[in-house]
Amino acid sequence: MAVVIHWFRRDFRLTDNTALNLALASGAQVIPLYLQSEWRGAHRWTGAKRQRFLVGCLESLDANLRAIGGRLIVRRGDAVTELGRLVRETGAEAIYVNRDPDPFGRRVEERLKMAVAEWGIRLVDCKDAVMHERNEVLTGSGEPYKVFTPYSKNWLKLEFAAPGQRCSRIAVPESVASEPLPTLADWGLVEEGNILPAGEKAARERLKHFLSEGLASYHLRRDSPADTGISRLSQDLRFGLLSIREVVQRCRAAGAGTGGEKYLAELIWREFYMQILWHFPEVLTHEFNPKYRGMEWPGSAANFQRWCEGQTGFPIVDAGMRELRQTGFMHNRVRMITAMFLTKDLHVDWRMGESWFMQHLVDGEMASNNGGWQWSAGTGADAAPYFRIQNPWTQTQRYDPEGHYIKRWVPELQNVAAVRLCRQPNEGDRLASGYPEPMVNHAYERERTLELFQIAAVDSR
Ligand code: FAD
Repeated sequence: MAVVIHWFRRDFRLTDNTALNLALASGAQVIPLYLQSEWRGAHRWTGAKRQRFLVGCLESLDANLRAIGGRLIVRRGDAVTELGRLVRETGAEAIYVNRDPDPFGRRVEERLKMAVAEWGIRLVDCKDAVMHERNEVLTGSGEPYKVFTPYSKNWLKLEFAAPGQRCSRIAVPESVASEPLPTLADWGLVEEGNILPAGEKAARERLKHFLSEGLASYHLRRDSPADTGISRLSQDLRFGLLSIREVVQRCRAAGAGTGGEKYLAELIWREFYMQILWHFPEVLTHEFNPKYRGMEWPGSAANFQRWCEGQTGFPIVDAGMRELRQTGFMHNRVRMITAMFLTKDLHVDWRMGESWFMQHLVDGEMASNNGGWQWSAGTGADAAPYFRIQNPWTQTQRYDPEGHYIKRWVPELQNVAAVRLCRQPNEGDRLASGYPEPMVNHAYERERTLELFQIAAVDSR
């Protein structure tokens, strides 16, 4: 019987998995494979909480495969080398993968394409992580969009693919050996934080809950960080525990009106940033807007450290940073506030914040994270204009007026009247003992930011 390999990368599910379904439809025996990277210790792009979630996804995937007659084969090392070894061992005729939209995934795919030509086998790579891929939503002149609104209008006009079926049977040859499932210790990491349960089942429960409890009122509740009206599905889309086709179809079927439309718009942002990163991979190192490329970010390492630790004396910022550290999640509104605070109140380089988020977010995803950071810093594609600088105090008044979110994450402020959490205290006036005074004056730093951007714009002429 012919043998093929399905290589799981960020598609850890059996339901509506494009490449896996295609591999099974070929009639060959399918080897479900995960390739574990060999780095150890600190890593600029990830950290213990996201790797722990990944470990949970793999445990669940293995259990789900066993329930239908298979098992997950794990190998360790360089992806192309290990694939080559498995091809030789099993005589596999093809490798099936879902395309990975980030630049690291893209590079491996390019290497693999050359390798399979040498090995004389087929590589079947599929669109799966997105509804519409990078070259499917282009301007009239065939250029990538740099502005969200026309991109999203065009995105919405294209046909939405329907979800495929759930795989119900898989048989893996006995003779194929596997390494044990990965553990955190393999990467030299130790458990930290209290993260959401991983795996396909947990993700499906979150989706079900959101459809019944959150979607219809999403547009009204999505900006309040103390509220539970958001989907909490970002890590599930990041790791492919849910297919985008199923999420979109079920949201549309729920007929949720404005809530449903707003939610869909957020999913489009995800694909907007993915196509930005695909067409302009330089955003990972440079400001997207050429006017601000190479601009000065004079903020200090010591101030960056206080921001990381949630000790800035700005309650909403500290709440967000502590939520991130403890749970690997931060509400979108607070991501914007904390990112703007780092770049526009502390003048710290957005790349440092971007990297900190990647090390702590369970949903950490290069394209969305880079897009969110450049948007907040005022340097990105369709970014907030640099002069629109959010004031952390008025943002608190608007989005957490009762202080519920702040008090959840900053226990020192438990007994402080909510109204005091919404305005800069006078110098020397502490909100609570054991809680720092605000480390900067927002009004002053705002002016400094305007200056820095103006200098950068003049220098770029
Ligand atoms: P919901 O409000 O329920 O949104 C629905 C879905 O839409 C999300 O699950 C996500 O897939 C997508 N989405 C929503 N907002 C955005 C956005 N602005 N950009 C791209 N996709 C979006 N999202 C990530 O998935 N990974 C990241 O690493 C990431 N980093 C960010 C960094 C900054 C500085 C900012 C401002 C935003 C970042 N976001 C990131 C976007 C957004 O904050 C999260 O997707 C959202 O908070 C996740 O919670 P949710 O699933 O409940 O979102």
